[in-house]
Order: sequence, then structure tokens, then C-alpha cells
Amino acid sequence: MRILITGGAGFIGSHLSDSYIDRGDEVFVIDDLSTGSFRNIAHLKEHPRFHYTIDSVNNQPVLAELVDQCDVIFHLAAAVGVKLIVESPVRTIETNVHGTEVVLSLASKKKKKVLVASTSEVYGLSAEVPFREDGNLVMGATTKGRWSYACSKAIDEFLALAYWREKKLPTVVVRLFNTVGPRQTGQYGMVIPTFVKQALSGQQITVYGDGKQSRCFGYVGDVVGALVELMDHEAAVGQVYNIGSNEEVTILELAKRVKELTKSDSEITFVPYDEAYEEGFEDMPRRVPDISKINSLVGFSPSMSLDGILGSVISFHAELP
Ligand code: UDP
Repeated sequence: MRILITGGAGFIGSHLSDSYIDRGDEVFVIDDLSTGSFRNIAHLKEHPRFHYTIDSVNNQPVLAELVDQCDVIFHLAAAVGVKLIVESPVRTIETNVHGTEVVLSLASKKKKKVLVASTSEVYGLSAEVPFREDGNLVMGATTKGRWSYACSKAIDEFLALAYWREKKLPTVVVRLFNTVGPRQTGQYGMVIPTFVKQALSGQQITVYGDGKQSRCFGYVGDVVGALVELMDHEAAVGQVYNIGSNEEVTILELAKRVKELTKSDSEITFVPYDEAYEEGFEDMPRRVPDISKINSLVGFSPSMSLDGILGSVISFHAELP
């Protein structure tokens, strides 16, 4: 198969590229390197079945050519990371909404199946934990920048599902929960690479708020395996799936685990949300996926424990030049 991956030089996109190359398929990547990095795909550069275009998905003639060449599309290109979103809301909204419009409209012309990556962020402030795909999405006020990410992604979901219902374009929507592993950068605020770097360099480990908020961290290899399975599965079309781990940990416990596993002397310090992000910032107290829907379709269950995941991230950062 010929696979087009938008955002293919990103953390998840580059692992997905590896997976298809290993399977014997041909991979086309388009990435504007805004948050992705060439370093993530440098090892694939000379591979005869790997092709990359450094450009934005908003460049329609370029994207149209790539859509033409491929059989299926993974649309992963998006503004990511809460820090980036709070700092650059215009870029977030425009990238997430317009980019998806362009991808879906070109895919529809050529009838190419599209998997659209959404996010667990869309559940927002919902207290119906664990989150089910048919549960309510609860957004905060529009004056709070964070929610622009959830809203822009919710629009992407509506659009993908509408293309299926109205135009019979096969689409699949996935809500990715906190996904982690080697190659993820802490540059956009993600907590695990940030803590690991802080611990390895002896800097303070910065826990935001009181550290009682919890998350579940899914290993990128498991997440990529699920993406490939869903793309292959006819019954996934027109559906929304949570993908992630359901091993819940508070951020304070996470900081302690990282400190212990790195044998670091770093001090754990608490930073108020207002200082870390912006005034009035709202965090989600708990975020846990219900993964029974994807489990019943493709038998998905996370294979890596939190300690295993942390071990892989620590080795990756320890070996960085
Ligand atoms: N966080 C933290 N310290 C950091 C970065 C993040 O305590 O240096 C917290 C953040 O406030 C959130 C959790 O870790 O509660 C996960 O943050 P991340 O940005 O990785 O993902 P999110 O779940 O917010 O999308």
C-alpha cells in the first residue's frame, strides 16, 4: 500500500512511518516541521520506499499530488501541546481547522480513506471518567485559550464524520490520549520528556498545580499498532475510537517515579498553573479512557507498563548528543 502521513515528521507520525516501512509498504510524508523535526525521519531518508515533502498541508497543489499518489491517508498534522496552544491560539485554530478541511476535501475528490487524529482533550472538563466515545464533551469558556484546542479538534471530528455520512468518504476518527515514548520532545510542554530531562540534568522537576491531577500514558508503539489496525478494518469507518492506556497515575507520583528511575537528586517543586501557563488556566483533574470499543474491534490492549515506558524515554534522553 501507499500511505500518506501528514505530520509524518512528528513524534507519532515518524513511528507510524517506521511501522509501515517495516511492513513493506510505501510511505509519503508531508510535514512543515513546525513542531515535527527532520531528526525523527532522518534514518528513513535514503529508504527507497520512503518519500518526504517539507511543506504545509495548506499548500493545496502539493497536497493534491500526494493524495493522488497514495491509497490511504493518516491526517496527523496539527498544532500540539498545551503550552503551544496557550501561547499561539491563532496558529492552533487555523492549523487544526483549515488543514483538516483541505485534507478531507482533496481526499473526497479521489475517494481515499482518511484517519483523522483527534485528542482526549475534547472530553474537556467532563467528569464521566473513564471517558467513553459517546459521552458528552464539556468545554470551558472561550476566554480560556486552552479550550481552542479541544474545540478545533471537535470541529475536525464533526467534519470527518460528515464527509462519511454525506459524501461516503471513508473516514475514521481516533482520540489519542497522552501518548509518549522516544522522540517526543518536552519543547511543547509535554510532561514526561520534560520531567526526564529535568531529572537527568539535575534541574528542579516542575509539578504544575498540586500534582493531584492524573493522566494515563500510552506507549507510542502500542498507539501506532492500533492506528494501523483501525486503518485496515472496514468496520472502523464512520466511527470514533479512544486510543491510550488506562493505567492512571497522578503527576506528583509520576515526578517521584522519574526521580527514582533516573536516580536523580533533582528537587520536586510545585509551580502554580497561572505561572506555568496563563492566568485562570484550567487543567483536567482526571483523564482516563474507556478502551473497550477499540478492544472489541481489534483486540487492542496496552502492552507497556508505565515503568517500561519511562525506561524507554530515559534511555532515549540519556543517549541524546
Ligand atoms: N505538567 C507538569 N509539569 C510540566 C508539564 C506538565 O506538572 O512540566 C502537567 C500538566 O499540567 C498536566 C499533565 O502534566 O496536568 C500532563 O501535561 P501534558 O502537557 O503532558 O499533557 P496534557 O494532559 O495537559 O495534554
